[in-house]
Amino acid sequence: MICVSLARGRHRYLLTELRHLGQQGVDLVELRLDCIQRKVQVKRLLADRPCPVIVTCRRKQDGGHWERTEEERLTVLRTAIAEGVDYVDLEDDIAKTIPRFGSTRRIISFHDFKRTPDDLKSLHAYLADLDADVVKIATLANHPNDNLRMLELVRSSTTPTVGLCMGEIGTPSRVLAGQFGATFTFAPFNPEKILAPGQIPWRQLCEMYRYDAITPSTKVYGVIADPVGHSLSPVVHNAACAAAGIDAVYLPFLVPKGHLGDLLKKAKRWPLAGLSVTIPHKENVVGFASSQGDLVEEIGAANTISFDGETGAMKVFNTDVTAAVAAIQESLEAQDVGFGGRLGLKTALILGAGGAARAIAFGLRKQGVEVTISSRTVGRAHTLAELVNGKVVEWSGRHRLPYDCVVNATPIGMHPKVNETPFGAKHLRPYMVVFDTVYNPENTLLVKEAQDVGCKVVTGVEMFVRQAAEQFKIWHGKEPPDGVMRLALKQATSSVRIIE
Ligand code: NAP
Repeated sequence: MICVSLARGRHRYLLTELRHLGQQGVDLVELRLDCIQRKVQVKRLLADRPCPVIVTCRRKQDGGHWERTEEERLTVLRTAIAEGVDYVDLEDDIAKTIPRFGSTRRIISFHDFKRTPDDLKSLHAYLADLDADVVKIATLANHPNDNLRMLELVRSSTTPTVGLCMGEIGTPSRVLAGQFGATFTFAPFNPEKILAPGQIPWRQLCEMYRYDAITPSTKVYGVIADPVGHSLSPVVHNAACAAAGIDAVYLPFLVPKGHLGDLLKKAKRWPLAGLSVTIPHKENVVGFASSQGDLVEEIGAANTISFDGETGAMKVFNTDVTAAVAAIQESLEAQDVGFGGRLGLKTALILGAGGAARAIAFGLRKQGVEVTISSRTVGRAHTLAELVNGKVVEWSGRHRLPYDCVVNATPIGMHPKVNETPFGAKHLRPYMVVFDTVYNPENTLLVKEAQDVGCKVVTGVEMFVRQAAEQFKIWHGKEPPDGVMRLALKQATSSVRIIE
Protein backbone atom coordinates (compact mmCIF):
# COMPACT_ATOMS: atom_id res chain seq x y z
CA MET A 1 0.00 0.00 0.00
CA ILE A 2 1.20 3.53 -0.80
CA CYS A 3 0.61 6.32 1.70
CA VAL A 4 0.55 9.62 -0.20
CA SER A 5 2.00 12.55 1.74
CA LEU A 6 0.35 15.93 1.41
CA ALA A 7 2.21 19.02 2.56
CA ARG A 8 0.57 22.39 1.90
CA GLY A 9 0.72 25.72 3.67
CA ARG A 10 -3.03 26.36 3.49
CA HIS A 11 -5.99 24.34 4.66
CA ARG A 12 -7.94 24.78 1.47
CA TYR A 13 -5.15 23.44 -0.77
CA LEU A 14 -4.67 20.49 1.56
CA LEU A 15 -8.39 19.73 1.43
CA THR A 16 -8.54 20.04 -2.35
CA GLU A 17 -5.66 17.59 -2.77
CA LEU A 18 -7.13 15.22 -0.18
CA ARG A 19 -10.46 15.16 -2.04
CA HIS A 20 -8.64 14.59 -5.34
CA LEU A 21 -6.70 11.65 -3.91
CA GLY A 22 -9.91 10.20 -2.52
CA GLN A 23 -11.41 10.33 -6.02
CA GLN A 24 -8.30 8.57 -7.37
CA GLY A 25 -8.94 5.68 -4.98
CA VAL A 26 -5.83 6.23 -2.85
CA ASP A 27 -5.70 3.86 0.16
CA LEU A 28 -4.03 6.14 2.70
CA VAL A 29 -3.03 9.82 2.93
CA GLU A 30 -0.59 11.45 5.34
CA LEU A 31 -1.48 15.03 6.23
CA ARG A 32 1.71 16.88 7.12
CA LEU A 33 0.17 19.46 9.42
CA ASP A 34 3.56 20.96 10.28
CA CYS A 35 3.52 22.67 6.87
CA ILE A 36 0.35 24.66 7.59
CA GLN A 37 1.25 28.29 8.06
CA ARG A 38 -1.65 29.33 10.30
CA LYS A 39 -3.36 27.87 13.37
CA VAL A 40 -4.11 24.28 12.45
CA GLN A 41 -7.83 23.51 12.10
CA VAL A 42 -7.67 19.78 12.79
CA LYS A 43 -11.44 19.26 12.93
CA ARG A 44 -11.98 20.94 9.57
CA LEU A 45 -9.29 18.82 7.92
CA LEU A 46 -10.56 15.50 9.23
CA ALA A 47 -14.30 16.04 8.69
CA ASP A 48 -15.57 14.21 5.59
CA ARG A 49 -12.19 12.74 4.75
CA PRO A 50 -12.55 10.50 1.68
CA CYS A 51 -10.00 7.87 2.75
CA PRO A 52 -8.00 6.82 5.83
CA VAL A 53 -5.61 9.50 7.04
CA ILE A 54 -2.39 9.70 9.08
CA VAL A 55 -1.87 12.93 10.99
CA THR A 56 1.77 13.91 11.27
CA CYS A 57 3.13 17.13 12.72
CA ARG A 58 6.91 17.12 12.58
CA ARG A 59 9.38 19.30 14.44
CA LYS A 60 12.39 20.66 12.54
CA GLN A 61 14.68 18.23 14.39
CA ASP A 62 12.68 15.36 12.87
CA GLY A 63 12.77 16.81 9.37
CA GLY A 64 9.52 18.79 9.62
CA HIS A 65 8.52 22.43 9.29
CA TRP A 66 6.80 23.07 12.64
CA GLU A 67 7.76 26.50 13.97
CA ARG A 68 5.31 27.07 16.81
CA THR A 69 5.48 25.75 20.36
CA GLU A 70 5.78 22.10 21.35
CA GLU A 71 2.68 22.50 23.51
CA GLU A 72 0.67 23.59 20.49
CA ARG A 73 2.01 20.65 18.47
CA LEU A 74 0.99 18.15 21.12
CA THR A 75 -2.46 19.74 21.18
CA VAL A 76 -2.74 19.23 17.41
CA LEU A 77 -1.85 15.54 17.78
CA ARG A 78 -4.21 15.03 20.73
CA THR A 79 -7.04 16.78 18.88
CA ALA A 80 -6.51 14.53 15.88
CA ILE A 81 -6.82 11.48 18.14
CA ALA A 82 -9.93 12.92 19.81
CA GLU A 83 -11.43 13.43 16.32
CA GLY A 84 -10.86 9.74 15.63
CA VAL A 85 -8.17 10.07 12.96
CA ASP A 86 -7.20 6.69 11.52
CA TYR A 87 -3.48 6.93 12.40
CA VAL A 88 -1.39 9.39 14.37
CA ASP A 89 2.39 9.61 13.99
CA LEU A 90 4.19 10.03 17.32
CA GLU A 91 7.96 10.38 17.61
CA ASP A 92 9.49 8.01 20.16
CA ASP A 93 10.18 10.74 22.76
CA ILE A 94 6.53 11.86 22.93
CA ALA A 95 4.93 8.45 22.57
CA LYS A 96 4.50 8.01 26.31
CA THR A 97 3.01 11.48 26.87
CA ILE A 98 0.23 10.90 24.34
CA PRO A 99 -1.78 7.87 25.43
CA ARG A 100 -3.83 5.55 23.25
CA PHE A 101 -7.46 6.64 22.81
CA GLY A 102 -10.39 5.38 20.77
CA SER A 103 -9.71 3.56 17.51
CA THR A 104 -6.76 5.69 16.37
CA ARG A 105 -3.73 3.53 15.55
CA ARG A 106 -0.36 4.68 16.79
CA ILE A 107 2.65 4.95 14.44
CA ILE A 108 5.72 5.26 16.61
CA SER A 109 8.40 6.89 14.50
CA PHE A 110 12.14 7.39 14.64
CA HIS A 111 14.38 9.42 12.31
CA ASP A 112 18.14 9.51 11.93
CA PHE A 113 19.35 12.02 9.36
CA LYS A 114 23.00 11.05 9.66
CA ARG A 115 23.16 7.25 9.35
CA THR A 116 21.37 3.92 9.44
CA PRO A 117 22.23 2.59 12.91
CA ASP A 118 24.06 -0.72 13.15
CA ASP A 119 21.63 -2.29 15.60
CA LEU A 120 18.29 -1.84 13.88
CA LYS A 121 16.74 -4.79 15.74
CA SER A 122 17.21 -3.22 19.20
CA LEU A 123 15.92 0.11 17.92
CA HIS A 124 12.86 -1.64 16.51
CA ALA A 125 12.22 -3.50 19.79
CA TYR A 126 12.41 -0.20 21.75
CA LEU A 127 9.92 1.50 19.41
CA ALA A 128 7.53 -1.47 19.34
CA ASP A 129 7.50 -1.33 23.15
CA LEU A 130 6.05 2.19 23.09
CA ASP A 131 2.56 0.82 22.47
CA ALA A 132 3.03 0.84 18.70
CA ASP A 133 0.49 -0.38 16.18
CA VAL A 134 3.04 0.42 13.48
CA VAL A 135 6.76 1.05 13.91
CA LYS A 136 8.23 3.55 11.48
CA ILE A 137 12.00 3.89 11.10
CA ALA A 138 13.48 6.37 8.62
CA THR A 139 17.26 6.65 8.49
CA LEU A 140 19.80 8.07 6.10
CA ALA A 141 21.41 5.51 3.80
CA ASN A 142 25.14 6.05 3.43
CA HIS A 143 25.72 2.69 1.77
CA PRO A 144 23.55 0.78 -0.73
CA ASN A 145 23.49 -2.18 1.68
CA ASP A 146 21.74 0.02 4.31
CA ASN A 147 18.63 -0.54 2.17
CA LEU A 148 19.07 -4.27 2.48
CA ARG A 149 19.53 -4.16 6.25
CA MET A 150 16.41 -2.02 6.59
CA LEU A 151 14.32 -4.22 4.31
CA GLU A 152 15.46 -7.39 6.08
CA LEU A 153 14.46 -5.79 9.39
CA VAL A 154 10.99 -5.11 7.98
CA ARG A 155 10.67 -8.69 6.78
CA SER A 156 11.67 -10.15 10.16
CA SER A 157 9.39 -7.91 12.28
CA THR A 158 6.27 -9.23 13.94
CA THR A 159 4.93 -5.71 14.66
CA PRO A 160 3.73 -4.03 11.43
CA THR A 161 6.65 -1.92 10.28
CA VAL A 162 7.56 0.79 7.81
CA GLY A 163 11.34 0.92 7.33
CA LEU A 164 12.69 3.47 4.88
CA CYS A 165 16.13 4.71 3.99
CA MET A 166 16.34 8.40 3.21
CA GLY A 167 18.61 10.08 0.70
CA GLU A 168 19.18 9.15 -2.93
CA ILE A 169 21.00 5.95 -1.93
CA GLY A 170 17.82 4.93 -0.11
CA THR A 171 15.42 4.97 -3.08
CA PRO A 172 15.35 1.13 -3.46
CA SER A 173 14.00 0.78 0.10
CA ARG A 174 10.98 2.89 -0.83
CA VAL A 175 10.12 0.90 -3.97
CA LEU A 176 10.75 -2.55 -2.47
CA ALA A 177 9.00 -1.82 0.86
CA GLY A 178 5.92 -3.89 -0.04
CA GLN A 179 8.01 -6.78 -1.37
CA PHE A 180 9.61 -7.14 2.07
CA GLY A 181 6.27 -6.87 3.89
CA ALA A 182 6.21 -3.20 4.97
CA THR A 183 2.78 -1.99 6.05
CA PHE A 184 3.04 0.82 3.51
CA THR A 185 5.56 3.08 1.80
CA PHE A 186 5.42 6.85 1.58
CA ALA A 187 5.29 8.92 -1.60
CA PRO A 188 4.76 12.66 -2.01
CA PHE A 189 1.77 13.69 -4.11
CA ASN A 190 3.34 16.67 -5.77
CA PRO A 191 6.65 16.08 -7.66
CA GLU A 192 7.61 19.70 -6.98
CA LYS A 193 7.09 19.28 -3.24
CA ILE A 194 9.45 16.40 -2.46
CA LEU A 195 9.60 16.28 1.35
CA ALA A 196 12.74 14.17 1.69
CA PRO A 197 15.57 13.32 -0.74
CA GLY A 198 15.20 9.98 -2.48
CA GLN A 199 11.39 10.08 -2.41
CA ILE A 200 9.56 9.03 -5.57
CA PRO A 201 6.39 10.96 -6.49
CA TRP A 202 3.21 8.95 -6.10
CA ARG A 203 2.29 8.83 -9.78
CA GLN A 204 5.75 7.62 -10.76
CA LEU A 205 5.69 4.97 -8.04
CA CYS A 206 2.32 3.72 -9.32
CA GLU A 207 2.84 4.02 -13.06
CA MET A 208 6.54 3.57 -13.71
CA TYR A 209 7.47 1.21 -10.85
CA ARG A 210 4.01 -0.47 -10.64
CA TYR A 211 4.36 -0.57 -6.84
CA ASP A 212 1.12 -2.43 -6.22
CA ALA A 213 2.14 -5.25 -8.58
CA ILE A 214 5.45 -5.90 -6.78
CA THR A 215 5.29 -9.12 -4.76
CA PRO A 216 7.94 -11.29 -3.07
CA SER A 217 8.39 -13.16 -6.36
CA THR A 218 8.95 -10.02 -8.47
CA LYS A 219 12.50 -10.06 -9.86
CA VAL A 220 14.65 -7.05 -9.06
CA TYR A 221 16.86 -5.35 -11.65
CA GLY A 222 18.48 -1.96 -11.69
CA VAL A 223 21.21 0.39 -12.78
CA ILE A 224 24.28 1.00 -10.64
CA ALA A 225 25.89 4.39 -11.13
CA ASP A 226 27.14 7.53 -9.43
CA PRO A 227 25.41 9.83 -10.16
CA VAL A 228 22.24 7.88 -11.02
CA GLY A 229 19.47 10.47 -10.78
CA HIS A 230 19.64 11.42 -14.46
CA SER A 231 19.48 7.81 -15.70
CA LEU A 232 16.60 6.99 -18.02
CA SER A 233 17.23 3.24 -17.82
CA PRO A 234 14.49 2.80 -15.15
CA VAL A 235 11.97 4.49 -17.48
CA VAL A 236 12.93 2.29 -20.42
CA HIS A 237 13.27 -1.09 -18.65
CA ASN A 238 10.16 -0.72 -16.48
CA ALA A 239 8.10 0.21 -19.56
CA ALA A 240 9.53 -2.78 -21.44
CA CYS A 241 8.76 -5.24 -18.60
CA ALA A 242 5.22 -3.89 -18.27
CA ALA A 243 4.61 -4.23 -22.02
CA ALA A 244 6.07 -7.75 -22.13
CA GLY A 245 4.10 -8.89 -19.05
CA ILE A 246 7.29 -9.68 -17.11
CA ASP A 247 7.09 -9.72 -13.31
CA ALA A 248 10.11 -7.52 -12.67
CA VAL A 249 10.99 -4.09 -11.35
CA TYR A 250 14.02 -1.98 -12.33
CA LEU A 251 15.49 0.49 -9.83
CA PRO A 252 18.13 3.22 -9.66
CA PHE A 253 20.95 2.20 -7.29
CA LEU A 254 23.24 5.06 -6.35
CA VAL A 255 26.51 3.22 -5.73
CA PRO A 256 29.59 5.30 -4.86
CA LYS A 257 32.84 3.93 -6.31
CA GLY A 258 34.12 2.33 -3.09
CA HIS A 259 30.82 0.49 -2.39
CA LEU A 260 30.62 -1.60 -5.55
CA GLY A 261 32.20 -4.77 -4.13
CA ASP A 262 30.03 -4.74 -0.98
CA LEU A 263 26.85 -4.42 -3.03
CA LEU A 264 27.80 -7.22 -5.41
CA LYS A 265 28.83 -9.57 -2.59
CA LYS A 266 25.35 -9.29 -1.06
CA ALA A 267 23.46 -9.38 -4.36
CA LYS A 268 21.98 -12.80 -3.55
CA ARG A 269 20.34 -11.51 -0.35
CA TRP A 270 18.05 -9.00 -2.14
CA PRO A 271 18.10 -11.10 -4.44
CA LEU A 272 19.21 -9.08 -7.51
CA ALA A 273 18.56 -10.67 -10.90
CA GLY A 274 20.49 -8.27 -13.13
CA LEU A 275 22.09 -4.85 -13.26
CA SER A 276 22.99 -2.25 -15.84
CA VAL A 277 26.36 -0.71 -15.10
CA THR A 278 27.44 2.81 -15.90
CA ILE A 279 29.76 5.61 -14.71
CA PRO A 280 32.05 4.97 -12.79
CA HIS A 281 31.78 1.17 -12.54
CA LYS A 282 32.07 -0.19 -16.10
CA GLU A 283 35.71 -1.20 -15.75
CA ASN A 284 35.85 -2.21 -12.07
CA VAL A 285 32.84 -4.49 -12.34
CA VAL A 286 34.69 -6.91 -14.59
CA GLY A 287 36.97 -8.02 -11.73
CA PHE A 288 33.97 -9.27 -9.69
CA ALA A 289 32.53 -11.51 -12.41
CA SER A 290 32.80 -15.28 -12.48
CA SER A 291 32.28 -15.35 -16.25
CA GLN A 292 32.17 -12.95 -19.18
CA GLY A 293 30.29 -12.57 -22.44
CA ASP A 294 31.94 -11.76 -25.78
CA LEU A 295 34.15 -8.67 -26.04
CA VAL A 296 34.36 -7.96 -22.30
CA GLU A 297 37.91 -9.20 -21.90
CA GLU A 298 39.07 -7.42 -25.04
CA ILE A 299 37.46 -4.12 -24.05
CA GLY A 300 38.02 -4.38 -20.30
CA ALA A 301 34.59 -2.91 -19.56
CA ALA A 302 31.05 -4.24 -19.04
CA ASN A 303 27.68 -2.52 -18.89
CA THR A 304 25.49 -5.49 -17.94
CA ILE A 305 25.43 -8.04 -15.11
CA SER A 306 23.29 -11.14 -14.99
CA PHE A 307 23.07 -13.11 -11.71
CA ASP A 308 22.38 -16.84 -11.81
CA GLY A 309 19.04 -17.41 -10.05
CA GLU A 310 20.30 -20.52 -8.22
CA THR A 311 23.95 -19.89 -7.44
CA GLY A 312 24.06 -16.08 -7.59
CA ALA A 313 27.10 -16.36 -9.90
CA MET A 314 27.73 -13.17 -11.78
CA LYS A 315 28.24 -12.98 -15.54
CA VAL A 316 29.10 -9.67 -17.23
CA PHE A 317 28.41 -8.49 -20.78
CA ASN A 318 29.07 -5.47 -22.93
CA THR A 319 26.07 -4.46 -25.02
CA ASP A 320 27.42 -0.96 -25.84
CA VAL A 321 29.72 -2.06 -28.64
CA THR A 322 27.21 -3.98 -30.73
CA ALA A 323 24.57 -1.32 -30.00
CA ALA A 324 26.81 1.48 -31.30
CA VAL A 325 27.70 -0.36 -34.51
CA ALA A 326 24.12 -1.51 -35.10
CA ALA A 327 22.85 2.04 -34.45
CA ILE A 328 25.10 3.40 -37.19
CA GLN A 329 24.42 0.56 -39.62
CA GLU A 330 20.67 0.40 -39.22
CA SER A 331 20.19 4.18 -39.10
CA LEU A 332 22.10 4.56 -42.36
CA GLU A 333 20.10 1.76 -43.97
CA ALA A 334 16.90 3.44 -42.86
CA GLN A 335 18.14 6.61 -44.58
CA ASP A 336 18.75 4.55 -47.73
CA VAL A 337 22.49 4.90 -47.47
CA GLY A 338 23.26 1.42 -46.20
CA PHE A 339 26.42 -0.27 -47.32
CA GLY A 340 25.15 -3.79 -47.76
CA GLY A 341 25.53 -4.81 -44.12
CA ARG A 342 28.95 -3.15 -43.78
CA LEU A 343 29.54 0.28 -42.37
CA GLY A 344 31.28 1.52 -45.51
CA LEU A 345 33.27 4.04 -43.49
CA LYS A 346 37.03 4.44 -43.79
CA THR A 347 37.84 7.04 -41.14
CA ALA A 348 36.14 8.18 -37.96
CA LEU A 349 36.91 10.96 -35.49
CA ILE A 350 35.75 10.15 -31.98
CA LEU A 351 35.35 13.10 -29.65
CA GLY A 352 35.90 12.04 -26.03
CA ALA A 353 37.89 9.18 -24.53
CA GLY A 354 35.57 7.85 -21.79
CA GLY A 355 33.41 4.75 -21.58
CA ALA A 356 31.17 5.52 -24.58
CA ALA A 357 34.16 6.48 -26.73
CA ARG A 358 35.90 3.23 -25.81
CA ALA A 359 32.94 1.05 -26.83
CA ILE A 360 32.48 2.92 -30.11
CA ALA A 361 36.21 2.90 -30.89
CA PHE A 362 36.31 -0.89 -30.41
CA GLY A 363 33.17 -1.40 -32.46
CA LEU A 364 34.36 0.75 -35.37
CA ARG A 365 37.83 -0.74 -35.30
CA LYS A 366 36.34 -4.24 -35.54
CA GLN A 367 34.54 -3.06 -38.66
CA GLY A 368 37.86 -2.01 -40.18
CA VAL A 369 37.36 1.72 -39.64
CA GLU A 370 40.49 3.80 -38.97
CA VAL A 371 39.84 5.58 -35.69
CA THR A 372 41.20 8.93 -34.47
CA ILE A 373 40.55 10.02 -30.89
CA SER A 374 40.31 13.65 -29.77
CA SER A 375 39.83 14.33 -26.10
CA ARG A 376 40.05 17.37 -23.86
CA THR A 377 42.45 15.39 -21.69
CA VAL A 378 44.99 14.31 -24.26
CA GLY A 379 46.47 11.55 -22.05
CA ARG A 380 43.13 9.71 -22.09
CA ALA A 381 43.03 9.99 -25.88
CA HIS A 382 46.46 8.36 -26.12
CA THR A 383 45.46 5.51 -23.79
CA LEU A 384 42.37 4.72 -25.84
CA ALA A 385 44.18 5.13 -29.16
CA GLU A 386 46.76 2.61 -28.05
CA LEU A 387 44.06 0.10 -27.11
CA VAL A 388 42.37 0.29 -30.52
CA ASN A 389 45.47 0.89 -32.58
CA GLY A 390 44.17 4.34 -33.53
CA LYS A 391 45.52 7.89 -33.86
CA VAL A 392 45.22 10.98 -31.67
CA VAL A 393 44.47 14.53 -32.61
CA GLU A 394 44.58 17.35 -30.08
CA TRP A 395 41.24 18.76 -28.99
CA SER A 396 42.10 22.15 -30.50
CA GLY A 397 42.96 20.50 -33.82
CA ARG A 398 39.87 18.30 -34.15
CA HIS A 399 38.42 20.29 -37.05
CA ARG A 400 41.50 20.24 -39.23
CA LEU A 401 41.23 16.96 -41.15
CA PRO A 402 38.20 15.56 -42.97
CA TYR A 403 36.66 12.28 -41.68
CA ASP A 404 33.90 10.04 -43.05
CA CYS A 405 32.33 9.93 -39.63
CA VAL A 406 32.33 12.22 -36.57
CA VAL A 407 31.19 10.74 -33.26
CA ASN A 408 30.37 12.84 -30.22
CA ALA A 409 31.12 10.70 -27.15
CA THR A 410 31.28 13.64 -24.74
CA PRO A 411 28.33 15.11 -22.82
CA ILE A 412 28.57 18.36 -24.82
CA GLY A 413 25.08 19.33 -26.03
CA MET A 414 23.32 17.32 -23.33
CA HIS A 415 20.43 18.83 -21.39
CA PRO A 416 20.49 21.51 -19.96
CA LYS A 417 23.38 22.89 -22.06
CA VAL A 418 21.52 22.30 -25.30
CA ASN A 419 23.07 25.28 -27.08
CA GLU A 420 26.55 23.74 -27.11
CA THR A 421 28.15 21.56 -29.76
CA PRO A 422 31.48 19.73 -29.76
CA PHE A 423 32.06 20.22 -33.49
CA GLY A 424 31.69 23.52 -35.36
CA ALA A 425 28.94 23.58 -38.02
CA LYS A 426 31.22 25.16 -40.62
CA HIS A 427 33.42 22.05 -40.55
CA LEU A 428 30.58 19.64 -41.31
CA ARG A 429 30.36 18.27 -44.86
CA PRO A 430 27.39 16.60 -46.59
CA TYR A 431 29.29 13.32 -47.13
CA MET A 432 29.90 12.89 -43.39
CA VAL A 433 28.08 10.53 -41.05
CA VAL A 434 27.51 12.33 -37.72
CA PHE A 435 26.78 10.15 -34.69
CA ASP A 436 25.89 12.00 -31.50
CA THR A 437 25.73 9.61 -28.53
CA VAL A 438 23.87 12.21 -26.44
CA TYR A 439 20.23 11.12 -26.18
CA ASN A 440 18.80 13.85 -23.97
CA PRO A 441 17.78 15.68 -26.09
CA GLU A 442 17.76 13.47 -29.16
CA ASN A 443 17.98 16.43 -31.51
CA THR A 444 21.11 18.08 -30.16
CA LEU A 445 22.55 21.20 -31.74
CA LEU A 446 25.13 18.95 -33.45
CA VAL A 447 22.36 16.73 -34.86
CA LYS A 448 20.37 19.73 -36.11
CA GLU A 449 23.38 21.41 -37.71
CA ALA A 450 24.48 18.14 -39.31
CA GLN A 451 20.99 17.66 -40.77
CA ASP A 452 21.01 21.22 -42.13
CA VAL A 453 24.29 20.54 -43.92
CA GLY A 454 22.88 17.29 -45.35
CA CYS A 455 24.99 14.83 -43.32
CA LYS A 456 23.73 11.34 -42.53
CA VAL A 457 22.79 11.46 -38.85
CA VAL A 458 22.67 8.79 -36.13
CA THR A 459 21.27 9.80 -32.74
CA GLY A 460 22.07 8.65 -29.21
CA VAL A 461 18.51 7.32 -28.87
CA GLU A 462 19.32 4.65 -31.47
CA MET A 463 22.32 3.45 -29.45
CA PHE A 464 20.59 3.69 -26.07
CA VAL A 465 17.57 1.67 -27.13
CA ARG A 466 19.73 -1.02 -28.72
CA GLN A 467 22.01 -1.49 -25.70
CA ALA A 468 18.94 -1.67 -23.44
CA ALA A 469 17.18 -4.08 -25.81
CA GLU A 470 20.22 -6.36 -25.75
CA GLN A 471 20.19 -6.28 -21.93
CA PHE A 472 16.50 -7.19 -21.99
CA LYS A 473 17.29 -10.26 -24.13
CA ILE A 474 20.09 -11.36 -21.76
CA TRP A 475 17.92 -11.01 -18.64
CA HIS A 476 14.52 -12.13 -19.81
CA GLY A 477 15.38 -14.43 -22.73
CA LYS A 478 12.70 -12.80 -24.87
CA GLU A 479 12.57 -10.49 -27.86
CA PRO A 480 12.52 -6.93 -26.45
CA PRO A 481 9.61 -4.59 -27.16
CA ASP A 482 11.99 -2.05 -28.66
CA GLY A 483 9.20 0.21 -29.96
CA VAL A 484 7.95 0.59 -26.38
CA MET A 485 11.49 1.23 -25.17
CA ARG A 486 12.11 3.90 -27.80
CA LEU A 487 8.78 5.62 -27.08
CA ALA A 488 9.41 5.61 -23.30
CA LEU A 489 12.84 7.15 -23.83
CA LYS A 490 11.56 9.81 -26.21
CA GLN A 491 8.65 10.70 -23.91
CA ALA A 492 10.97 10.96 -20.91
CA THR A 493 13.46 13.21 -22.68
CA SER A 494 10.75 15.47 -24.06
CA SER A 495 8.98 15.74 -20.67
CA VAL A 496 12.27 16.83 -19.04
CA ARG A 497 12.45 19.67 -21.52
CA ILE A 498 8.83 20.66 -21.01
CA ILE A 499 9.12 20.85 -17.20
CA GLU A 500 12.21 23.07 -17.33
P1 NAP B 1 32.87 9.47 -19.39
O1 NAP B 1 33.48 8.13 -19.28
O2 NAP B 1 32.81 10.37 -18.21
O3 NAP B 1 33.67 10.28 -20.55
C1 NAP B 1 33.32 11.58 -20.93
C2 NAP B 1 34.27 12.08 -21.99
O4 NAP B 1 33.80 13.37 -22.42
C3 NAP B 1 35.70 12.29 -21.49
O5 NAP B 1 36.59 12.07 -22.54
C4 NAP B 1 35.68 13.77 -21.09
O6 NAP B 1 36.93 14.39 -21.15
C5 NAP B 1 34.83 14.35 -22.19
N1 NAP B 1 34.22 15.61 -21.79
C6 NAP B 1 33.38 15.83 -20.78
N2 NAP B 1 33.01 17.13 -20.74
C7 NAP B 1 33.68 17.73 -21.76
C8 NAP B 1 33.74 19.07 -22.24
N3 NAP B 1 33.00 20.04 -21.68
N4 NAP B 1 34.53 19.34 -23.29
C9 NAP B 1 35.27 18.35 -23.87
N5 NAP B 1 35.24 17.07 -23.47
C10 NAP B 1 34.47 16.77 -22.43
O7 NAP B 1 31.40 9.38 -19.95
P2 NAP B 1 30.79 8.32 -21.01
O8 NAP B 1 30.19 7.17 -20.33
O9 NAP B 1 31.80 8.07 -22.06
O10 NAP B 1 29.59 9.18 -21.58
C11 NAP B 1 29.84 10.29 -22.42
C12 NAP B 1 28.53 10.71 -23.07
O11 NAP B 1 28.12 9.69 -23.98
C13 NAP B 1 27.37 10.83 -22.07
O12 NAP B 1 27.26 12.12 -21.62
C14 NAP B 1 26.15 10.40 -22.87
O13 NAP B 1 25.54 11.53 -23.41
C15 NAP B 1 26.72 9.57 -23.98
N6 NAP B 1 26.36 8.14 -23.84
C16 NAP B 1 25.37 7.67 -24.62
C17 NAP B 1 25.02 6.35 -24.58
C18 NAP B 1 23.92 5.87 -25.46
O14 NAP B 1 23.54 4.69 -25.35
N7 NAP B 1 23.39 6.70 -26.34
C19 NAP B 1 25.67 5.47 -23.71
C20 NAP B 1 26.70 5.98 -22.91
C21 NAP B 1 27.02 7.31 -22.98
P3 NAP B 1 37.85 14.53 -19.84
O15 NAP B 1 38.56 13.23 -19.66
O16 NAP B 1 38.73 15.66 -20.18
O17 NAP B 1 36.93 14.86 -18.70
